[in-house]
Formats: sequence, C-alpha cells, structure tokens
Amino acid sequence: MSGSDRQRFLIVGGGLAGALTAVYLGRAGHSVDVYELRDDPRESALGGGRSINLAISHRGLAALEKVGLAGEILDIAVPMRGRMIHARSGELTYQPYGTEETHVIHSVSRGALNVALLAAAGRQNGVTLHFDQKCTGVDGDHGTATFQHAPSGEETTVADRVIVSADGAFSAVRRSMQKLDRFDFSQSYLTHGYKELTIPPGPGGSHLMEKNALHIWPRKSFMMIALPNHDGSFTCTLFWPFEGESSFASIRNEDDLRRFFDREFPDTVPLMPTLAEDYFHNPTSSLVTVRCGPWHVEDRVVLLGDAAHAVVPFYGQGANAAFEDVIVLDDCITRFKPDLRRAFETFYRLRKVHADTLADLAIENFVEMRDKTGSHWFLLKKKAEKALHRLLPGWYVPLYNMVSHSRIPYAEAVLRAQQQNRTIGIVAGAVLLLLVSILLGIW
Ligand code: FAD
Repeated sequence: MSGSDRQRFLIVGGGLAGALTAVYLGRAGHSVDVYELRDDPRESALGGGRSINLAISHRGLAALEKVGLAGEILDIAVPMRGRMIHARSGELTYQPYGTEETHVIHSVSRGALNVALLAAAGRQNGVTLHFDQKCTGVDGDHGTATFQHAPSGEETTVADRVIVSADGAFSAVRRSMQKLDRFDFSQSYLTHGYKELTIPPGPGGSHLMEKNALHIWPRKSFMMIALPNHDGSFTCTLFWPFEGESSFASIRNEDDLRRFFDREFPDTVPLMPTLAEDYFHNPTSSLVTVRCGPWHVEDRVVLLGDAAHAVVPFYGQGANAAFEDVIVLDDCITRFKPDLRRAFETFYRLRKVHADTLADLAIENFVEMRDKTGSHWFLLKKKAEKALHRLLPGWYVPLYNMVSHSRIPYAEAVLRAQQQNRTIGIVAGAVLLLLVSILLGIW
C-alpha cells in the first residue's frame, strides 16, 4: 500500500464489530487504534461458556472466514440445526432449520467471541488496543475524539484520525453526530424487556436438553428461549412485558416467580436450581431499535454495527449484520482508495435500506416466535415451504433461509419472498378454481 493510501483510523468500541473492523483495516495496511470503554476481557476469565450467547449464521461466518477466523470461532460454538418447541404440557416438537447440512446456525458465547476477535486484532500488525477509555464525544469537523480513562479520570484527545464508530446501540459518537444539521435519528423501545437465566450443565458437562437446537417456549404474548453453551449449560432469555398483569413488574417475590414458572415453563423448573437467584440478581434489560442517517460525516467519521442500526434480537441477525457491514465497508475503502468520502457514502447507500428492512423483520419475527411457532398451522407452513424448496430449489427459497443461510441482501430477500408468495397464491387460486369447476361439472 502506498503512503497516501495508508490511513490512520481510530475505532471507538472494541466490541464485536470494532474488533473485527480492526482486523480488516490492519490487514489492509492501515494504522488502527481501538479505544474500548471496558477493561481488557482477554485478561479476565470471561472466555468461558455461561455468558450471553448469540446465534452466528452465514453472514457472520462469511465475514470471519475472509480473515481466517471462522474455524477458530466454530471451535467454540455449538451448532443448532433446528428449533425445539416446548409446549406447556412438556410436549416437544422439533422443526429443522433447513433442508441441507449447511442450514445450521451457531450458538457462541458473546464474551468468548469478543475475546477471540480482540486477540486477533491484538495480533494484527498496525493495530493498537486501548482499554478503560470512554469516548465522551467527537468533533467530526476535525476528526477529533475525546476519551476519559476509567480508573484515573484523565482526559485524552486523539486528533487527526478517521473515526469509525463501533460503540454500540447507545453510541457516544452518534450522539455527537446528532448535533449536526440534517442528521436523522429515531429510537423505539419494545414494551417487552428481557432477562437472562441459566440451565446449568448436567453430570460430566452434559446438556440436560437437546444440545443442537434453539429451544423456544412460545406463550403467545411472551416467550422464553434457550441457546446451548459448550460447557453443557444453556443461556435462557425470558422476553416479557415490563409492566402489566403478567409482566416482570408482577413478580414481587420467590412465590410469584415459582407460580409463574410452574404454570408457563414447568419442564424447566427441575433444570433451573438457581432460578430465583438468577431472576432477582440479573437485570431486566430493554430492547431498542435505532435508525439514523447518514452514517458518516464527510470522510472523517463513519458509523457501523449497532451504532448505525441496532435491531431487536428476534432474527438473530444484529451481530451478523454488523459483521457484514465490516465486509462492505472494507470493500468500499479498498475500491475507492484514497477517497474515503466516496467509500463512506457508498457504504451507507449499500447498507442503509437493508438495515432498515432487518429492523422490521426482527420485530415481525418476535410475533412469529412467541405466537406462531407453537401452532399446527405454522408447522404445516414450514413443512410446505421445505417441500417447495426441495421440489424447486432454484426458484423457491424460504425467507428464513435467505436471511440466515445466504448473503442475499435483506431487502432483496423480502422482495423475493413476496414475489414467491404471490406466485404461489396465484397458482393455488387457479388450482382451486379448476377443482371447483370440475366438481360443479363446468369442465
Ligand atoms: P456491541 O457489541 O454493543 O459493542 C460496542 C462496544 O463499544 C462495546 O465493547 C462497548 O463497551 C463499547 N462502548 C460503548 N460505549 C463506548 C464509549 N462511550 N467509548 C468507548 N467504547 C464504548 N445478534 C446476532 O447476530 N445473533 C443473535 O443471536 C443475537 N442475540 C442477541 C440477544 C440479545 C438479548 C441482544 C440484546 C442482542 C443480540 N444480538 C444478536 C445483537 C448483537 O449483540 C449486536 O448486534 C452486536 O453485539 C453488535 O455489535 P457492535 O460491535 O456493533 O456493538
């Protein structure tokens, strides 16, 4: 890379998107500094299994693969080949995710994934990591960012850098951009929140439920899910309204909690010895969707990942989309070098419409997961989709497959699914008409 093409990047946030961006930019020969709010997770014991876990699918793996990290991440992940639906009666129904061996999503501890990515960034020439550094604001006009060191309170100003904002849903960089003229921003919260609970490992680190599945307890207006961890445990997440008759606010003591679980999730009660402890100790967190634009200030600041487009977690795509951002941003920087303004504009144009579509899809999928996955109609629909896909693989691909097992951009996937459904509707209508005509003796 020639001297004029080599840029000095400052990445705010060393989470999933920030750490992977550092690897990409470092490999491309740029100079990269990552400033992260928290302390260095490589030095704490977080690498293990029982933390928040994520489903990584095709898009995320493609981004990891490009820099040779997919194998390492798959080694610490548990493949999930389908949904396991738990009825109140304890009856289990298994729904495979797809028709092929590759139609799998992977449960991985967010902490362990972050550690692996930061370790890769730390090994990369040209990348320097800084921890305990809280960004307090940026000046987009001058490419300047200000940080406060956590233990000492000391303030540092880093100047003359291209700033990449990867500081998550509540981004400090974005907050500074909101002061600029014509910057659009909206955020909306669901009435539901979530709380993490645990099913610990069985004897010898065994899994007490089916290991290779994403478990769902759909209960119409709320649900619980569980993802497997490597150490035999499951991380469960209860999605429930914050307020109302049946809500987090309605649980005042252990008796309330026990009654609720006995009624709604009786099969989990014997598997959750620390239920009350987890429930009353773990926070109830909110679920936010963030939309904003443009995602850049000239050639000096660019947003990506949750900082640009936080979505609710029901399609398991937030981190996958953030990783896909990294591929696209890297492509744009390489394609238009040394013109970063054009690179950032193109990145925004290529990604914004798909991020907005994903935000809608994620909210719609909440209704599908909590309300429909338990119904016979849903099961039948999934079977019909699979049969059609097997019969006409080149023409019919279920929306879930396009989102989770391909890199078809989200908005194109939705459009294609609508076209497929329209054609099926027309064909089904014609067949019905023909049958009725035959029955009535018109033909
Ligand atoms: P983050 O991972 O939030 O990283 C931001 C980083 O910036 C953090 O390290 C933070 O400490 C740092 N930071 C924040 N503020 C500052 C500051 N002022 N200064 C310096 N640093 C700062 N996605 C999936 O793909 N699949 C799933 O199954 C899935 N499940 C989810 C389940 C839940 C309950 C939730 C809440 C989310 C889930 N997601 C999932 C979404 C996923 O977690 C996010 O999309 C992903 O973490 C986004 O990565 P990011 O790097 O943009 O942001």
